[in-house]
Amino acid sequence: MKSENSELDLSNAHKYAFQNKPYLLHDSICGCYHCLKIFSPIEITRYADDYGIGTAICPYYGVDAVIGESSGLPITKEFLEKMHNKWF
Ligand SMILES: [Zn+2]
Repeated sequence: MKSENSELDLSNAHKYAFQNKPYLLHDSICGCYHCLKIFSPIEITRYADDYGIGTAICPYYGVDAVIGESSGLPITKEFLEKMHNKWF
């Protein structure tokens, strides 16, 4: 049976966790695939400087693994768990 999420490219999704400040400023929800929390981007207080563009740092665990809804990816626990299993 084909997994319902098999069309999600987890490798490609990874890039949305970097240099994402311009997008997160407009998002109302985002998720961290390190600690699997889903929260509002206004909770993000720290951004790393990646070549002049901010990369969000998770406010809960201090890791740059935050993906916003404007990525077009599903900000769900299931998706974050898949990302976590692939990248951590
Ligand atoms: Zn986190």
